[in-house]
Amino acid sequence: MLKRVEPITEPTTDPIAGPQAAPVQANTMPASTMVDPFGRTVSYLRLSVTDRCDFRCTYCMSEDMTFLPKKEVLSLEELDRLSTAFIAKGVRKLRITGGEPLVRRDILKLFTSLGRHLEAGALDELTLTTNGSQLTRHAAALYAAGVRRINVSLDTLDAGKFRKLTRNGNLDQVMAGIDAALQAGLAVKINTVALRGINDVEVDDLIRWCGDLGLDLTFIEVMPMGEMEADRADYYLPLSVVRGDIQKRWTLEESDHRSGGPARYMRIAETGRRLGFITPLTNNFCEGCNRVRLTCTGQLYMCLGQQDMADLRRPLRDGSNAETLSAAIDEAISRKPKGHDFVMDKRRQAPAVPRHMNVTGG
Ligand code: SAM
Ligand code: SF4
Repeated sequence: MLKRVEPITEPTTDPIAGPQAAPVQANTMPASTMVDPFGRTVSYLRLSVTDRCDFRCTYCMSEDMTFLPKKEVLSLEELDRLSTAFIAKGVRKLRITGGEPLVRRDILKLFTSLGRHLEAGALDELTLTTNGSQLTRHAAALYAAGVRRINVSLDTLDAGKFRKLTRNGNLDQVMAGIDAALQAGLAVKINTVALRGINDVEVDDLIRWCGDLGLDLTFIEVMPMGEMEADRADYYLPLSVVRGDIQKRWTLEESDHRSGGPARYMRIAETGRRLGFITPLTNNFCEGCNRVRLTCTGQLYMCLGQQDMADLRRPLRDGSNAETLSAAIDEAISRKPKGHDFVMDKRRQAPAVPRHMNVTGG
């Protein structure tokens, strides 16, 4: 049973954003539904709470990233207000992401506060995507806040490769974090970006390891987002190839399981676990898109793969009432595009979008 929690309403000095004004209660807004111009209902919000991270995964960030100035970042209570506004407008699933969400100071206060929407029945799921490095500290508190399932990103089981790929991450720390999450009662799904010449030789090991621990596994195609040192096309691995390879050694059964996200699932008969494929490049899944993404500065991206966005920080901070904020969200949803234009092509010099993944959240 979740404990009743009051929303974060006191003026606080946020460790990242600095002193902020006390927020207005946003949950007085009328309940409504967000439907985009293509008839898709938006019921899933992915909220990036920081663009910072303790890792520098080579396909996600460049080595010397410039992070957002702290004064531009929304305080925890502003993030709560915005999330609450979206929940009032029909969001049923809220995923906290980043950057690495668990490196933001006091982030558990936000989870605990948002947990009240689960208790009230206004939200079906509060969840998290994490690199796992801070889970030993936070797993139990996440469960207490109402989180039941999390995604942990892990691309290799080889400690040396892991250190290189994350530019100094510690695999043991992540493994201990996954263990802590399972001990706390959280269901863990592993997300693995398929990388040619890096983890393509580990596919069987990952399937076996997930089977042994009782974890589902999802492979993701690398997306051309943000400039980086290497050319992503060099290690882009189409999941059609990965799947064909897996089918030579494992029995993949059809599954109609849907997690509310873009993954298409199969069941591996030998392990009994689910295997998901997120294929933005080889099999565009935009027609069923039910989500929008909010950055830690209050920019609402209606599509991960497009540049158009709406600034919600202004109506949040300029004293506008809940109706004005709600109208700004509606206007943004009316601009949700049909889909992304990701192409992985050697001849294409610039990435499809200049933002790195850590800005919008994966
Ligand atoms: N730091 C957390 C983590 O790694 O899980 C949350 C944020 S991270 C940006 C979210 C997800 O995006 C991770 O699973 C990561 O592997 C994935 N990702 C990052 N850059 C990507 C890219 N260019 N293409 C595909 N997936 C990417
Ligand atoms: Fe950090 Fe996640 Fe990006 Fe890796 S993928 S650099 S862990 S934000």
